[in-house]
Amino acid sequence: MPTAEKPPPEKMMFQLNLRRRGISDQAVLRAMEAIPRDAFVEPSDRRHAYDDTALGIACGQTISQPFVVAYMTEQLQLRGEHRVLEIGTGSGYQAAILSKLCRQVVSIERFRMLADTARKRLKQLHCDNVEVLLGDGFDIPADAGQFDRIIVTAAMVEIPDALTRRLEGGGILIAPVGPHNGVQTLVRLVRTDAGLERKALVDVRFVPALPGIAREL
Ligand code: SAH
Repeated sequence: MPTAEKPPPEKMMFQLNLRRRGISDQAVLRAMEAIPRDAFVEPSDRRHAYDDTALGIACGQTISQPFVVAYMTEQLQLRGEHRVLEIGTGSGYQAAILSKLCRQVVSIERFRMLADTARKRLKQLHCDNVEVLLGDGFDIPADAGQFDRIIVTAAMVEIPDALTRRLEGGGILIAPVGPHNGVQTLVRLVRTDAGLERKALVDVRFVPALPGIAREL
């Protein structure tokens, strides 16, 4: 009988830590298990890929802390038929996790180099339902349409109306809201018949959302 391949201890700890910190959605945990985070970090950081910390990536940006990725994903309450918008592709890791839990992901990144690298990685991992666009999350292409879920992974001082207008009825938006160089609050908006319901979740620290396509690279 072939012996089942045992996951390396750091990957087992990774899953255990997510559960210990309160992630209980089995589909989210499975997605976190299925996507190799080591494929999204800088080669020099591979040995830290399964630590529960954010890590630096190209263009002075970061790949988010795994717990925060899992937590935001859980809060989105994704279903298989959902169309999801991500602002801030970065490494592509969050987009890969989303891709396992919904029908389509459109992810926008303002650095060409990050968008190109993420697109390549996602293709290698067969995350074929993710479309990475070079663009500005503050100026979403008119033809991008409406979304069931929106996840912003860069800090916004306020959530622009242009973004909430893209949210379908019953839709959920999660974004870190607050000052650019400090602590932000993760905010969850739900579009209800009565309007937008707003709830503050936890404190987080994200790199800032900046307007326009980046000039370098
Ligand atoms: N979700 C990423 C982490 C994102 S870090 C991951 O899983 O790795 C935040 C990213 O948002 C950075 O790459 C940054 O360049 C991008 N960003 C900042 N402002 C933006 C904007 N206006 N439009 C699109 N992307 C933006």
